[in-house]
Order: sequence, then C-alpha cells, then structure tokens
Amino acid sequence: ALLRLSRTDPLTGLENRRAIDEKLREYWSDWQKLGNRFAAILIDVDFFKKFNDCYGHQEGDRCLIHVANALGELVTRYNGSIGRYGGEEFIVLARMNDKEQVADLSEAICRTVEDLALTHELRRDGTSIVTVSVGAAFTRTQAGAKLEKIIHEADRALYLAKAGGRNCARLFDPTDPQSSDESENIAALLKIAIDRNLVSLVYQPIQEIASGRVEAVEALMRLKMLDGILVPPSLFIPVAERTGAILELGRWAIRTVCTDVLAHDDVRVVSVNVSPIQLKTPGFATSVAGILGETGVAGSRLAFEITEGRELEMDSDILRCISDLKLLGIKIWLDDFGTGFAGLSWLRLIDFDTVKIDRSFLHDCGTPKGMAMLQDIIALVRNRGHKILVEGVETDEQMALMREFGIDKVQGYHVGRPMPAASFQAKQQVQKRPFTVLKSA
Ligand code: C2E
Ligand code: MG
Ligand code: MG
Repeated sequence: ALLRLSRTDPLTGLENRRAIDEKLREYWSDWQKLGNRFAAILIDVDFFKKFNDCYGHQEGDRCLIHVANALGELVTRYNGSIGRYGGEEFIVLARMNDKEQVADLSEAICRTVEDLALTHELRRDGTSIVTVSVGAAFTRTQAGAKLEKIIHEADRALYLAKAGGRNCARLFDPTDPQSSDESENIAALLKIAIDRNLVSLVYQPIQEIASGRVEAVEALMRLKMLDGILVPPSLFIPVAERTGAILELGRWAIRTVCTDVLAHDDVRVVSVNVSPIQLKTPGFATSVAGILGETGVAGSRLAFEITEGRELEMDSDILRCISDLKLLGIKIWLDDFGTGFAGLSWLRLIDFDTVKIDRSFLHDCGTPKGMAMLQDIIALVRNRGHKILVEGVETDEQMALMREFGIDKVQGYHVGRPMPAASFQAKQQVQKRPFTVLKSA
C-alpha cells in the first residue's frame, strides 16, 4: 500500500511524476532495444490559473479530477499510460506505429476534454468551457538521442499549441523553423550574450506632432552571433521568453537605457519593450526601483511598452506589477494595438498612458475600407482618453494624414530609423544648436 501511495497522485489517482518517469524509462528502453516506437504527449489545461481564481481551489481540484478521469478512460483504449506531471499538466505515453496515430490520439485528447463541457466563463478568448492544449512527440531515430529529448520536443510542441490559440494539438516537427536546432543555438547564445557583449540597444526616435520635436526614443534590442551576424528580434525574443533569458536581458536593457541615455539630457523619455513574462515575475517592480535608485534616473523618464501576447492572460499578478511600476512614475504604453486578441479587454483593465497603433493599420490605408478601419481605431482609443502613437510612418503622405487625424505622436522610418545611442545623441546635439543660437540672439 505504501509503495502504491508513493507512486500515485493523491488528487486524481493517476500515476505521479515519479511513477510516470519510471514508465518513460521503460518505454524508452523498449524503443532502444526492441524498436517499439512510442509517443510522449503533454497536456495542459488552458487558463487553469484563471479557473482557480474564478471558481476557487476546490472547484479547481474537481476540474482536474474530471479531466483526469476522462483522459484516463481514453488512454486505456489506446493501451497507454497517463500521469499527472505537475499542477495542471498531464502526460500520456503510448506505443504507436506512425505519426497519424499520434495525431489521432492527440486530437482525441482535446475533443474528450471539450466534450466534458465544464464551464469556464472568464477566460476571455471567446471560449467558455475548459479545454486543453496538447503537445506530442514521436520517437525518431537520431544519433546520441537522450530520453529527455522526447519530453523536450513534446514541450516545444505544447508551446506551439498554446501559441496557436490553445484547445488544439501539435505534433513536434523537426523541420519547423520554430522548433529547429536554430532556436537551440539561440538559447545557448542568449546565456552568454551579456557577458560576451553580443547584445546591444538601438534607439528609434518618436516625434510629437504638435511640437515637431523628438520627445522620446524607443529602445530596441539587437543580438549578434559570435561571427557578428545579426539575429532578428522576431527570432530571439520568443526564444528568450521561452527560456526565461528575457528576465536578465530585460534588466540589462533597463539599466543600459538609464546609464547610456537617460543619464544625459538628449531626450526626455525612453520607452523599453517589456515582455509580459517580466511583469509576471515576482520582484520585477522592485528590481526596476533598484535600477532607478542606483542610476539616479527619475521613473517618469521611462515608459514600458507591453504587447498583448498570445501566451499571456492578464492576471492579478500582472495588474499589481503594473500599478507598482506606475507608483514609480513609469508610464505604461500598449504596443502593436490591434494585432492581438486581448486588446480591447486590456484597454478596459489598464489605464495606458499611450496606445501605439500597429503599423499594419496605417499600411492598409490604401483602400477605403482600410482607411475607415484606421479612423475607427483612432476614435476608439481617443474616446478612452489615451494618447495615440501611430507606428510605421514611412512617407510624407502618411505624415500628412497623421497631422490631419490629430495623432499625438508618430514613429517610423520617416522620422528616423533605429540607431546606436552615439549617433542619436550626436543628432540631438546638432538639432539643439540652432535653438541655442536663437535664444542667445
Ligand atoms: P516593436 O516594439 O513594435 O518595435 C517596432 C519594430 O518596427 C522595430 O522592429 C522597428 O525597427 C520596426 N519599424 C520601425 N519603424 C518602421 C517603419 O517605418 N516601417 C517598418 N516596416 N518597420 C518599422 P525590430 O527592432 O525588429 O523589433 C521587433 C519587435 O521585437 C519589437 O516590436 C518588439 O516587440 C520586440 N523587441 C525589440 N526589442 C525588445 C526588447 O528589448 N524586449 C522585448 N521584450 N521585446 C523587444
Ligand atoms: Mg515596441
Ligand atoms: Mg510596436
């Protein structure tokens, strides 16, 4: 009885992590010795934290039990094993002959939970029942493969399932660039990036339309590989977020902005992109306060740009962090407005200082429909009382349009491209000179 107890998850009655890890070793050695292929499938209950917040922990427990029972029944039919891997995460192991079978089982897992139709009203993504995201990996012949690899691959697939809107299954695909070895290289690179001087910041001017002056700059991160080739942020930021490297890089960015730019008076405000993962990490606001204290920079000279990530639900931790940052005087801006699915509820929850309208809306202005859409978005943001910044202003015509629409601030190649601090500071000095002459004259 004791032995059974030590291998059983007390809540769901499924095998616990220790037991299922042991099973995994058995499946693995069967595959190595006998060639019996198998799938490892990770299952994560979508927005479970929100479920707990909304219905309480007892209901949360009950939800996990329902899901566990239903999945347990399903997996028995496939002759597989199931265990509770942690909080709201389950794992299924099953012998399979081909990828199609793995895909079928993964899909069946999603549908089984969906069919339970357990109410989950507050999830804000348009679904109101409990669902799961599923990431699967299937054994594949590889030199030097280790047991952990298959779990790692299932985890990658799970990440993509969540990024793909949840309530769906993904099978790890080694040829997909998002799960390729390249991102593993980037992950390794990120670990040494600060020490080896591989990261830097460039600054893009933001112009205030009324005064015509550059009142702010946005700090944008750059990463180069050891051979000097640049890796685009669209590649390395998601990897940094997934591995947690964004926490250290983010602190580094804020500190660098304070010492390299805000310590001088070339510009009043610098905006820094902050990943929701940073806002979610306990102690983030305190660490920012520490940096402000050490560098002697006033919080009011910093703005944090937040993007409505697909990965993130706006939970109470984040809201608390945002209000702490505001207490430090830091402005909170909403980035790329209109591209995510949470945008409108975010506008309702957070009093943003400025909302940056994604450049795709400006670039779609060529058609009457596109133009009407941009105007509608501007009206919506304006009625909520936020300042409006339009991104991606590239031409004189677009600039004129922004004036006509009474936009507060603009950013884009027309105003200036991202550049290193030194070039930017030199430019600001040149611009300041005629102003000084005028005054003394
Ligand atoms: P973002 O914050 O929306 O940054 C604006 C992006 O648009 C920048 O790309 C910028 O170079 C580009 N851009 C600016 N003006 C124009 C224009 O007129 N036309 C066009 N076509 N593009 C323009 P970049 O530097 O590649 O950054 C991409 C994204 O990476 C950023 O989008 C931001 O979400 C993320 N990112 C960059 N640095 C950081 C960082 O330090 N931390 C975090 N968490 N994310 C960052
Ligand atoms: Mg930004
Ligand atoms: Mg943006």
